Amino acid sequence: MEGKKVIITGVPGVGKTTVVNEALKKIKEEGVEYKSINFGTFMFEVAKNDNIVQDRDQMRTLDRAVQKRLQQRAAQAISQIPGNVLIDTHASVKTPKGYLPGLPEWVLREIMPDCIVLVETDDDQILMRRITDETRSRDKEGSRSIAEHQQFNRSIAAAYSMLTGCTVKIVINADFLLERAAEDMAAVLR
Ligand code: AMP
Ligand code: MG
Repeated sequence: MEGKKVIITGVPGVGKTTVVNEALKKIKEEGVEYKSINFGTFMFEVAKNDNIVQDRDQMRTLDRAVQKRLQQRAAQAISQIPGNVLIDTHASVKTPKGYLPGLPEWVLREIMPDCIVLVETDDDQILMRRITDETRSRDKEGSRSIAEHQQFNRSIAAAYSMLTGCTVKIVINADFLLERAAEDMAAVLR
């Protein structure tokens, strides 16, 4: 199928969606179009319909087998979307029983990304962003645990790259430097 598949990841609160929206505005002016989709929303639509959860932030506490089933259905639906597709998701999801891979082998096989972007910034900046975001039920964790999650995401992204041959791009979304992050992201999408 024609089109580029770019997967955007980053720990909750790092500002993935904000960076993506800014980058999409930039490339649209240049005539480059992407369909921007959110993996969690695909999972949530199914979970809500089946009456498993009421809130998207409850999904990461579901039984692992249920999360995997939702993940697989989302991956299948997303693989049908033609053209350039940008997928906002997670390299790993922090669950009560440990890190769940966001892109296990059967998900990657459906999507076959060209590039995986890791949006990162300093752990204490992420901590502050979570505290001030009242729209979501963000996990309450300290900077050490955020650091561990970011480290884990880099490691697992390397594994994803080995499985698919995709490139891995790290985009830093530092405080007051959204413009730079958006430009780095746009460069991946062009
Ligand atoms: P988000 O809005 O991106 O924070 O996603 C909401 C929720 O969707 C996450 O907390 C996860 O429970 C779930 N989710 C998103 N992407 C994935 C994925 N690739 N694999 C498993 N769960 C995911
Ligand atoms: Mg988001």
